[in-house]
Amino acid sequence: MSNPFMEIYDTLLNHYGNPHWWPADTPYEVMVGAVLTQNTAWTNVEKALANFAGSWKPCLIASMPLDQLKLIIKPAGFFNQKAIYLKNITSWFQTYHFDVSLVKQEPLASLRKELLSVKGIGPETADSILLYAFDFPSFVVDAYTKRLCERYPLKVGDNYEAVKHAFEQNIPREINVYNNYHALIVLHGKYYCRKRRPLCEACPLGGRCQNNQQKN
Ligand code: SF4
Repeated sequence: MSNPFMEIYDTLLNHYGNPHWWPADTPYEVMVGAVLTQNTAWTNVEKALANFAGSWKPCLIASMPLDQLKLIIKPAGFFNQKAIYLKNITSWFQTYHFDVSLVKQEPLASLRKELLSVKGIGPETADSILLYAFDFPSFVVDAYTKRLCERYPLKVGDNYEAVKHAFEQNIPREINVYNNYHALIVLHGKYYCRKRRPLCEACPLGGRCQNNQQKN
């Protein structure tokens, strides 16, 4: 029996190749990027990240005055809120002595619950941190994912947890698949399955996508 979740994955992977996500050198850099990218384009995050001038040590951000942190991250927008959120996630990491190996010893479910209790960390940010910073199989859902599911369509339910559950039930529980799949959906949402004027005629998923077939 065919699996549309894997058909999409295989087609996108074949089309784009391995996206090599997340664009960061350390797990803490992933955590900072995951907070800064909330409600803004990655290009703005890059400007904020450049302002750190390579000072990625969480102990530096933990001790940095809040006003200084706000100035550094200003290009990412919502900097008053995000500076507090960065302090919050850094405090959470500090409970593990900033030690990635200690975080990785914890069960996924309890870590996710902990992250979701941190003010400023919603499901998408929590799952991005779990997957891309700590290599846990926790599927990330975003607006691109929901749009593709609606258009293709994939039967996934209508809220974050339902969509996440649907993907996790239908793809192999392998870190590289989780990692690549989310990245491929983001790429596809930017280049083909755009919010306005999707490029259906040239889309690699066009042969199976109901949205495209309805146009023919
Ligand atoms: S055919 Fe169109 S709607 Fe369907 S996935 Fe491709 S771009 Fe999106």
